[in-house]
Amino acid sequence: MYEKVILWATPAFFLLIAIEIVVGWRRRRSQYRVADALNSIALGQMSTYIGVFGRIISFGLYVLIYEKARVVTLDSTSVWAWIVGLLLYDFLYYWYHRFGHEVNVLWAAHVVHHQSEEFNLSTALRQTGTSYLFSWVFYVPMAVLGFPPALLLGVGLIDLLYQFWIHTEHIGSLGVFDRLFASPSNHRVHHAVNDRYVDRNYGGLLIVWDRLFGTFQPELREEPVVYGTRDPLHSWNPLWANLHSYAGIARDSWHARAWGDKLRVWIKHPGWRPLDVSERYPKAPFQLSAVAKFDRPLPTALAVYCVVQSVLVLGLGTHFLAVVPGWATAPTVAYLAWLVLCLCVIGGLIEGRRGYLWAETLRVAAFGVIAAAIVGVGVPFAREVIGLISLVMIAWLWAAGRSLSGRDAPQFAA
Ligand SMILES: [Zn+2]
Ligand SMILES: [Zn+2]
Repeated sequence: MYEKVILWATPAFFLLIAIEIVVGWRRRRSQYRVADALNSIALGQMSTYIGVFGRIISFGLYVLIYEKARVVTLDSTSVWAWIVGLLLYDFLYYWYHRFGHEVNVLWAAHVVHHQSEEFNLSTALRQTGTSYLFSWVFYVPMAVLGFPPALLLGVGLIDLLYQFWIHTEHIGSLGVFDRLFASPSNHRVHHAVNDRYVDRNYGGLLIVWDRLFGTFQPELREEPVVYGTRDPLHSWNPLWANLHSYAGIARDSWHARAWGDKLRVWIKHPGWRPLDVSERYPKAPFQLSAVAKFDRPLPTALAVYCVVQSVLVLGLGTHFLAVVPGWATAPTVAYLAWLVLCLCVIGGLIEGRRGYLWAETLRVAAFGVIAAAIVGVGVPFAREVIGLISLVMIAWLWAAGRSLSGRDAPQFAA
């Protein structure tokens, strides 16, 4: 069901993104950069595809606890069960989200959503691929209280889909609405790295939880929001985006001399480091004035190529979500691995790295061979057409990327 709703919602997401781009263009205030938006969309895809397995863990455990440990059975057709379920879910989401910012290993999972240094509707699609390991714990009370699994799935989707529209800079303050519900204004604050804003406004649907538990912060005219994270990613590789914070914690844990610190670094507040580690491997303290957006030069023709390939991979991913429910594990894993590989290679290309021209050539050629083997059987001229399209793609790639040099130092947008 989850995959079906996301599949149906995807055209609406892209229509609204297109509208936001046009509005930004007309107002001469666009927050879109091709690389950043493609990276966010790739992370949304990766999260959804990995979720085919991830939800077996998170949703499967919910079902198990509901079956074995519920104290009552609530009627999934009752309107009241849905209203109370939505409110309870949103309350638990608040704590899940808050812990996701305040406990290092949970932040390593959630950080993906915050890595964009822009704030637009594509940022909403930027979701983690590893939260499935932890998220279910926070919703155990709903299972014990007898909220049926279908209801949990339904209210979870309402909470998630609601949060799409609040990722925009084109909607200003909404007065009293900003003090009751999650809104563009108070969610901009949530995505900020400014001292006054950081770790505030966790609410998914209602912002009253933040007001109750002391984490509410309104957006201030005198303090413009600076987006991103305090330990920036500086990469367009979606797999690395999912892993880089875990890698940072693992590195500090490895370097820590005391066993207690080796464990503490996983559960302390993000940014906490063992004293001996921070002395031997110092990091520059965060400075708002020093924040610069990650960017690398990308020829326009190559940017267009990356957009086209991203659209094609999105189409392939749609096929994946539509067909895999009936598949065995091994081919599903293989298909998932292929999609992740595609997204990573395109991510490397967006970084303008010359070596990825070869990786992309191999990817297109391999896909041509696989597609010809599957589709070409019994279809006249299918193999020839697929071969021709693959060659055109490769020729376009090399023509578009001919000006790329070797490994440039990272560059930053103004
Ligand atoms: Zn967050
Ligand atoms: Zn957000």
